[in-house]
Amino acid sequence: MLKYNVVVIGGGPAGLGAALEAKKNGCEKVLIIERDRELGGILNQCIHNGFGLHEFKEELTGPEYAGKFIKMIQEENIDFMLNTMVLNIDEANDEKIISAMGEDGLIEISADAVILAMGCRERTRGAIDIPGYRPAGVYNAGAAQRFINMEGYLVGKKVVIYGSGDIGLIMARRMTLEGAKVQCVVEVNPHSSGLTRNIVQCLDDFNIPLKLQTCINYIHGKDRVSGVTLAKLNDNREVIEGSEEFIECDTVLLSVGLIPENELSSGIGVNLDKKTSGPIVNNSMSTDKEGFFACGNVVHVHDLVDFVTKESRIAGKNAALYVLNKKAKKKSSTSNNIKTVASDGIGYVVPQYINIDSNEDVNLFMRVRNICTGKKLVVRCNNEVIFEKKRAHMIPSEMERININKDLLGKIDSDIYISVEEV
Ligand SMILES: Cc1cc2nc3c(=O)[nH]c(=O)nc-3n(C[C@H](O)[C@H](O)[C@H](O)COP(=O)(O)OP(=O)(O)OC[C@H]3O[C@@H](n4cnc5c(N)ncnc54)[C@H](O)[C@@H]3O)c2cc1C
Repeated sequence: MLKYNVVVIGGGPAGLGAALEAKKNGCEKVLIIERDRELGGILNQCIHNGFGLHEFKEELTGPEYAGKFIKMIQEENIDFMLNTMVLNIDEANDEKIISAMGEDGLIEISADAVILAMGCRERTRGAIDIPGYRPAGVYNAGAAQRFINMEGYLVGKKVVIYGSGDIGLIMARRMTLEGAKVQCVVEVNPHSSGLTRNIVQCLDDFNIPLKLQTCINYIHGKDRVSGVTLAKLNDNREVIEGSEEFIECDTVLLSVGLIPENELSSGIGVNLDKKTSGPIVNNSMSTDKEGFFACGNVVHVHDLVDFVTKESRIAGKNAALYVLNKKAKKKSSTSNNIKTVASDGIGYVVPQYINIDSNEDVNLFMRVRNICTGKKLVVRCNNEVIFEKKRAHMIPSEMERININKDLLGKIDSDIYISVEEV
């Protein structure tokens, strides 16, 4: 059986960053396992720019961002397997046993530590139950993006996009640039769920209408999509009778949410957070199962890859420390964990736990529940405010970040509560 110190599952930006950091922190034998035909993850299909502003201080395309990391992986001689899908993870004699299907059949690999970096997948039509037949021409937006940008197929000519998340917005522009007519982007919420810069650059610049508080009520067409019926929604998300409108199209792209890929994680007994659908982690990106770390979209859906990279470095470094401590038969740092609680106005907080003995700055990532203007993010411990940050404008689609520096961490002795409050 092949033996490694750290095995990273997934060769997207999270996996690449984590593998590099594990190697840099003293783990000689690091392996990345990727089911696709190349490293880079979702970035390979994101040929638009907007990546790397924080990490490299320049605006890169997805493949360029991934390319920089792949080069570093090669320079560090880190092993990777492509076209290899991890199917199962077991534990035996203090080792993790990874079963994967590769080009030559089933293989087993043993590891001291595992980093989960499997990204996320798209919600499908089945998850949102749109009535109608099942004609050709209904795609997930990310799948259509792969067809167009990597395989060279234009998936349709007259398009309606359902969901105004970033993938939907980016595909509205992409389809237009390829010569298709995007009839409209339809959103059930009263606000878009994408980044503001994407609304401006992908819709406004191309005069593509965004229909808010609207749903697709029916998909028409038997062999191929021939149109959709849209309907306006009231504040309780009920269809307003008489508001129906038929829009002709041959293609519907669905951009209706992402689900972290955690079948492997739950299979090994890692506890998942109901709000993020990702593993519960502490500030070392350690899950609650010893020797398993996680980072990137598998933990929570990120809008910026730079923060995926940041998180992956923490996971890689701490996986390496765990392995080195294990080899030296030293106990890993004590887990004096306190909880980070999403309080008023906050949807979720990651990490869910902080090891207050870690003596390092901690970045808390969170999303607000609703659009808020002129409010502040407040962190309380024992009912006392320990940190606050004014924010002119916050929206659920843009991740918020709070840095708790290590001096402040030293003063925390019980769970902390994060909320949105009036200034
Ligand atoms: C359409 C779109 C536009 C975006 N635009 C921007 C932007 O403009 N700027 C920006 O900063 N960010 C953007 N992002 C976000 C950014 O690309 C993601 O946050 C980032 O790619 C997530 O990295 P990841 O490694 O966690 O996941 P992924 O990139 O999804 O990588 C996960 C990898 O794990 C592999 N995998 C999964 N399961 C297994 C298994 N069982 N065995 C082996 N391999 C497995 C997958 O094949 C995949 O390669 C965009 C994302 C999308 C989808």
